[in-house]
Amino acid sequence: MLHSINPVNLEVLAAFKEHSDTEINHILKSTEAAQIGWEGASVSERGAIMLKVADLLKEKKEPLSVKMTSEMGKPITESRAEVDKCIWCCEYYAQHAASFLEDEAIETEGRESFIAYRPLGVILAVMPWNFPLWQVFRFAAPALMAGNAIILKHASNVTGCALAIEAILNDAGVPEHVFRVVKTDNNGVASIIGNSVIKAVTLTGSTAAGKAIAQTAGQHLKKTVLELGGSDPYVVLEDADLDLAVDACLTSRLINAGQSCIAAKRFIVHQSLYDGFVESFTQGMREVVMGDPLDEATRIGPMARVDLRDHLHQQVQKSIVAGAKCLLGGEVPDRKGAWYPPTVLTEVRKGSPAYDEELFGPVAAIIKAKDEDHALRLANDTVFGLGAAVFTKDINRGKYIARTRLAAGCCFVNAFVKSDPRLPFGGIKESGYGRELSYLGIREFVNAKTVYIK
Ligand code: NAP
Repeated sequence: MLHSINPVNLEVLAAFKEHSDTEINHILKSTEAAQIGWEGASVSERGAIMLKVADLLKEKKEPLSVKMTSEMGKPITESRAEVDKCIWCCEYYAQHAASFLEDEAIETEGRESFIAYRPLGVILAVMPWNFPLWQVFRFAAPALMAGNAIILKHASNVTGCALAIEAILNDAGVPEHVFRVVKTDNNGVASIIGNSVIKAVTLTGSTAAGKAIAQTAGQHLKKTVLELGGSDPYVVLEDADLDLAVDACLTSRLINAGQSCIAAKRFIVHQSLYDGFVESFTQGMREVVMGDPLDEATRIGPMARVDLRDHLHQQVQKSIVAGAKCLLGGEVPDRKGAWYPPTVLTEVRKGSPAYDEELFGPVAAIIKAKDEDHALRLANDTVFGLGAAVFTKDINRGKYIARTRLAAGCCFVNAFVKSDPRLPFGGIKESGYGRELSYLGIREFVNAKTVYIK
C-alpha cells in the first residue's frame, strides 16, 4: 500500500493499493495505443485542451492547494502560488508550442531539407513530493504539447496529488490513457523502464535515484533527463547590498521549509560583510513563524516526512561534531510530526555534511570568504551544479561571474534562483543533465528528424 501521511501530526490521510504487474502492463499498452491518436491531433487542438487544463486548475485551486499542504506540509500560501505557476506553464506551452515545434528549413543542395520535431511516444516521469504539482506540470505540459503520452510514477507520499492531476487532465479533455498514473513505489520503476512501451524517462529527485534510473535506462538504451539535487551557493561580495542579499538568501532558504532543489544552501560571504550578514540572517531565521501549514501566517510548516527530518538532523549533528557552530535551532522539537526548526550553522568545514552534501530542509550553512577568488572557489567546490547566485552592486562584475565563473545550470545576479517557463532549467555535474522549460524543454522528448528531398 502507498500511504498519504499528514506530516503535521502523522495522521494517515489515505492508503492506495498499488497496481499489480498485470495492471501496469495493461496501463502501458493502453497508453501506447492512446498516444497514436494524440500525436495525430494538431498542435492547436492540443493547445486548446491545455488551455482548458489551465482553466480547471484555476477552478480547483483551493482543493488542490489543500491537498498538497495536507500530503507534504507546505504552507498553504505556497501551495496556491504553485497552482498559479502550473496555470502559467500550461498557458505558456499552449501559446508557444507551435512555434517551438515548427519545421526548421535548412539550406542544402537538395530540393528541400528541414528538421521536423516529432514526438517520441510514451514517456515515463518519476517525480518527487516537494512540488507535487509543479514538478509534474513543468514536464507534462511541454511533453503533452509535443504529442507524447505520459506514465507518471509520483513520489509515494503524494499519491493523492498524482490522482488529482490525472483527473484534471482527463476532465479537461486530454484523451483517456494519454496521461496515466501508476501506483507503485520505487521498486517498480526498473521494470517499467525496461518495458518496450516506454521510449524515454525523466526523473526529478535525488542524485541517488538519478544514478539508479540512468543505469537501468542505459541498459535499455533509453534517453533520460535528470533533474537532481543541489547545494546552491549564494556568494555575497564585499560590494553587495547587504539588506537585499539577506532578504533573498532568507527567502530562498525557507521556501517549502527548505525542501527545494534550488534553495540557497551554502552562503559564502566576503569577510568584510560577514558579521553583519550573520547577524541579520540569523535574526531573520529567528523570526520565522513555524506552525500549521494551513494557517496563512505560517512561513514554514513541518518537513514532508519524519525520515527526511531525521536524516537532516543527523547531517546537522555530524557537521557540529566536525567543527560547525550552531547559532540557532539544531534541535528536534518535542512534538508529534516532522518538525525541524530554522537552523543556522557557521564555521562550516569541508568534509562535513553541511559543506559537502545537500541539506534538504531549513538549515543554512554560512562560510566566510577572504576575497572574490576564494568565494568562487568555495562556491564551485561541490559535486552539484544546479543553481547559484551572486550579490554585488557592480552589475558587470555580477554578470561576468554568473556567465563565466559559477559552475551551475542557473546563475542569478542579485536575486534568488527560481524556475520560469520562459527560461531553461537544469543542472550540471551530479545535479543531472538535460533541460526543462523554455523551447529547450519541449525539445527534450522529440525526435529531431531530418527530412531531405532530392
Ligand atoms: P527521491 O527519494 O529521489 O524520490 C524522487 C522520486 O524518485 C520518487 O518518485 C521516488 O519514489 C523515486 N525513486 C527514489 N529512489 C528510486 C530508485 N532507486 N529508482 C527509481 N525511482 C526512485 O527524492 P525525494 O526525496 O523525493 O526529493 C528530494 C530530492 O529531489 C532532492 O535531492 C532534491 O534536490 C531533488 N529535486 C531536484 C529537482 C530539480 O529540478 N533538479 C527538483 C525537486 C527536487 P518513492 O517515493 O516511491 O521512493
